Amino acid sequence: MEQPLYQEASAEFYRQLPAKTCASCGKEMDEQCESYQSECTDCTVTEQ
Ligand SMILES: [Zn+2]
Repeated sequence: MEQPLYQEASAEFYRQLPAKTCASCGKEMDEQCESYQSECTDCTVTEQ
């Protein structure tokens, strides 16, 4: 019965995160999508 507590703490942790910025250009990213990426969509496209 520890799972519900863990998920709640996780959600709170992500809520407190500062705006995610691109590791390449430093531009603020939308943390709602592609949260696994470290670079913004512009930089990701440029690399490919
Ligand atoms: Zn970028």
